Amino acid sequence: MFPSDYLIQKYQQNVPRYTSYPPANYFCEQSIATYKQAIVESNATAPNHISIYIHIPFCSQLCWYCGCNSTGFTNRTAITEYLQNLHTEIRNTIQLLDTQRKISQIHFGGGTPSLLTKKELYDILSLFSSHFSFTNTAEIAIECNPANLTFAYIDELASIGFNRISLGVQDFDKNVLTTVHREIPNIPIPKMALYIQSKNIALNFDFIYGLPLQTSESFAKTIEKAITCNPDRIVTFSYAHMPSLKPLQKKIDTYAMVTGKEKLKILYTTHNQIVDAGYISIGFDHFAKPQDELARALHEKKLHRNFQGYCTRESTGQVYAFGSSGITQLSHSFFQNNKNYTEYNKAIQENGFATTMGHIRSHNELLINTMIEMILCNNIIDWKTVATHCNLSPDYVQEFFSFSEIKVAELLADGLLQKESYGFSVTKTGAFFSRNIAAAFDPVLVTSNKLFSSSI
Ligand code: SF4
Repeated sequence: MFPSDYLIQKYQQNVPRYTSYPPANYFCEQSIATYKQAIVESNATAPNHISIYIHIPFCSQLCWYCGCNSTGFTNRTAITEYLQNLHTEIRNTIQLLDTQRKISQIHFGGGTPSLLTKKELYDILSLFSSHFSFTNTAEIAIECNPANLTFAYIDELASIGFNRISLGVQDFDKNVLTTVHREIPNIPIPKMALYIQSKNIALNFDFIYGLPLQTSESFAKTIEKAITCNPDRIVTFSYAHMPSLKPLQKKIDTYAMVTGKEKLKILYTTHNQIVDAGYISIGFDHFAKPQDELARALHEKKLHRNFQGYCTRESTGQVYAFGSSGITQLSHSFFQNNKNYTEYNKAIQENGFATTMGHIRSHNELLINTMIEMILCNNIIDWKTVATHCNLSPDYVQEFFSFSEIKVAELLADGLLQKESYGFSVTKTGAFFSRNIAAAFDPVLVTSNKLFSSSI
């Protein structure tokens, strides 16, 4: 059910996206020695599989809405120098890893990793394949900007083992793309999609809603077109307007920008369109086909969430990140590399690693993380499951979260939560406000002065 004006007004608050707990803006300085020790310890931590994230920060043109760590493409020399340092970082980390462990995933993100040549990508993949074996279902994925993608490049990706491509479509409306300084693809995306699928490569479409000129009607046309392309997964990201953190966003025409109720209407319409087309909704704004591993994990209540989005614990394991701004995500800690690529280069040349920030999670933070993940991934609050996962008693868990009682009573009264024998479930209306519900179980947020994006 579409939320009332009262609920929209009340819950349009700035809250974390909770891609991690605690959120990345709580990270503090970490030494390389601590990072190396955590890497060694992670060899004996479950889940055991190795997941690799490679960050390529360069883009041929900067989109004004961008919230990623990206930099305007300078020249091939800058890319070559960066890749040399990336190789050094990977080699140094591999020395600390147990090479008996298997790789379950390699993900190239950015920036625009599709700016790399076949040889550049192959050389990075070879660093891993020469030391590790892969699981049978290992995923080798890359984020591609449709504007600089060609059929020949797709052939090259297939020939070196890529089996998933995420296309940053953002919107099919050229006026929307132009107004936010996004390059227009030369090859029509439906043609590109067909070609990718003909190579047996899984296809993701990424969209962004909340941009200038978008309306629920115009975005519905975009989604209609997306559905006809039959991608395996569709993600509709909410645009987070935070110009104080992302100065390029100051160029966005905020008068033409869709917000509040209209923005929520886009999400609502999109959600219904994609679900009606047979996709399973994963955390409300991600969608996957029923046979997809994410849909199966949702069904088995084993869905998991990290900085790359929704995933499963088995396929993701421990995430080791490389490149500027990359965040290594281990069961008990996070470590982030220097965000600036020139400083990253310098740090690697001087120290062999570029760790600057991070966080070692306490037992209580792991407990809060489990609770928040359960809400955002599985739409339930199940005391017993949280307790089992954290090796605690359900009574202890309920007592620990007693600080949230007043907020939970309010969420129940507003119809966002519903009482169940095991705890609570998130209602259909509540799903629009799942970040607000998660925030009710975050004791630190109450005293926080950090900047977060709007929940709508
Ligand atoms: S949205 Fe993608 S292509 Fe555009 S600047 Fe950001 S990372 Fe680069």
